[in-house]
Amino acid sequence: MTSPKKLWSSLIDRLRKLPDGSNAREYGLALMEWVKENRTNIGAEPVARFGLDWLSTLPLEEYLLESQDLSVPNEREILARQKPSSVEVVAMLVRDQIWELVTFKTQTECPNCGGDELRVLTEPGSGDRLVFACDSCGWAQDEYAKPWQGPPGCRPAKVSSLREHRLLSWTPAQVGPEEQEPNRTSDVDG
Ligand SMILES: [Zn+2]
Repeated sequence: MTSPKKLWSSLIDRLRKLPDGSNAREYGLALMEWVKENRTNIGAEPVARFGLDWLSTLPLEEYLLESQDLSVPNEREILARQKPSSVEVVAMLVRDQIWELVTFKTQTECPNCGGDELRVLTEPGSGDRLVFACDSCGWAQDEYAKPWQGPPGCRPAKVSSLREHRLLSWTPAQVGPEEQEPNRTSDVDG
């Protein structure tokens, strides 16, 4: 059984090998590779509970916004200061890091707790139906802002899906100028 301390050090060491100028994609891939290499050390139960199996094998480019900005030295030092008390906490912290990269925040405050922005997920088994969910309190609503209660197992929405639902244009701060879509004439009357 690997100690949480040893497991955590191996993650920090892995991240220290990343050049300081690495981008969000390279950072995410390093986390995902580390999870894949350490599945056995983390253990089947935490891996399953925090969804690390599927999170570590997502095609990152389908979820990560090109505009996603991140300072690898900052992230790494924040993590290096943590002292996870158990392997479960290690699994949770890694899950949170990957989750942050693959989920899109809407800049809409959670109407239930006001403590976080709603993230865009997709309903399990529905293909492309969106669910807007709060990480802090577990609140979820559909695209018409009606409370949503469905089966567990929502997954992050892909960037293509965010574009199809025109969510990126709601949040220009997240989108580089070259990515902004021109105004659709169909939305403008005469
Ligand atoms: Zn909430």
